[in-house]
Amino acid sequence: MAELDRDVLKQEMTGWRRDLHAHPEFGFEEKRTAAFVAAKLREFGLDDVAEGVGGTGVVGTLKRGSGNRAIALRADMDALRITEQSATTHRSQNPGIMHACGHDGHTTMLLGAAKLLAAEGGFDGTVRFIFQPAEEWGRGALAMLDDGLLRRFPFDEIFGLHNMPGLPVGHFETRAGPFMSAEDNFEIVLKGIGGHAARPHSGNETLVAACALVTNLQTIVSRRLSPADISVVSVTELITDGTRNALPGLACILGDARSFRPEVSAEIERQMRVIAAGTAAAYNVTADVTYSREFVPLQNDADLVDAAFVAARRVLAYGAASIAAEPMTASEDFARFLDHVPGCFVFLGNGETSPPLHNSSYDFNDDGLLHGTNFHAAIVRQRLGGAIVK
Ligand SMILES: [Zn+2]
Ligand SMILES: [Zn+2]
Repeated sequence: MAELDRDVLKQEMTGWRRDLHAHPEFGFEEKRTAAFVAAKLREFGLDDVAEGVGGTGVVGTLKRGSGNRAIALRADMDALRITEQSATTHRSQNPGIMHACGHDGHTTMLLGAAKLLAAEGGFDGTVRFIFQPAEEWGRGALAMLDDGLLRRFPFDEIFGLHNMPGLPVGHFETRAGPFMSAEDNFEIVLKGIGGHAARPHSGNETLVAACALVTNLQTIVSRRLSPADISVVSVTELITDGTRNALPGLACILGDARSFRPEVSAEIERQMRVIAAGTAAAYNVTADVTYSREFVPLQNDADLVDAAFVAARRVLAYGAASIAAEPMTASEDFARFLDHVPGCFVFLGNGETSPPLHNSSYDFNDDGLLHGTNFHAAIVRQRLGGAIVK
């Protein structure tokens, strides 16, 4: 089959990426984006294109040869509620919403891989191109799984990638085992008796208790968990109903915890309940703890990390691929797929001078587009036994 001109493909992909960037949509509202993706997949001649999977998700299927193995590649489509600070011609046209996490780039790289593999083949089996909604909330993967993704579009392995500011363009990194953390959220409500600021002894105000509790929560990681278990407990908000001359009868502490094993997450919750109850008792107020699990830890399959490394080394510059990345205490909805099917998630460089993810000046670096597309194609050809075409 005819080999696609990579320079032409890169130019075309840059156009798609900037179009998607200019039209960002929030999680589960990716209607234009999903229609754009589905139209492109049909234009490339895929065997099947299913829309509305888990809300706004799209799944494209491409078959070649007679092999019965299937491999999935996944991209995310959603944007964030951030107002873009940019003067580029492709800046967001949807006020208050922007692609500040580069999901426009991920969607484009996977579309590029679909075009490339549909035109060139070079594999024997089935490829599933999964475009998921609502990654940022940690809800889109579950929505697709609940909608029968694994039954309707079965696959044996799954690969995904995320751009990474700070990492040079064309560089790749990942690691075997725990790679990205779980995210838990918590809310602790302290109730006492508010009163006059001049007479604290006549009530049971909650602010001093809340301050003590914020301090005591720091001992979960430092004194209750093994130093070998990477974890974070961050109090992010302290809200009371106090005012200038009135002590609060109500205080609310909110925060976020990260960990890499379910046992550690369970222990953080258990210790938090013990410390909240004990601190509240010491200050003669009550504490009510609500603890929720938002993202599960992302566990890469060791063999597939090795496979991804080999594929990356075939398409990237010598020395640009590493499987010695450190675990990261950020969370990723891709982890939900790995609860069911082995796979590997990788980072691709967005450049050393790139603003950070979720920053209002961030923009996906189009110089990385072809690297992601080439990696997707290389892993498919490697895992489905076709010849590698560089
Ligand atoms: Zn993000
Ligand atoms: Zn992201």
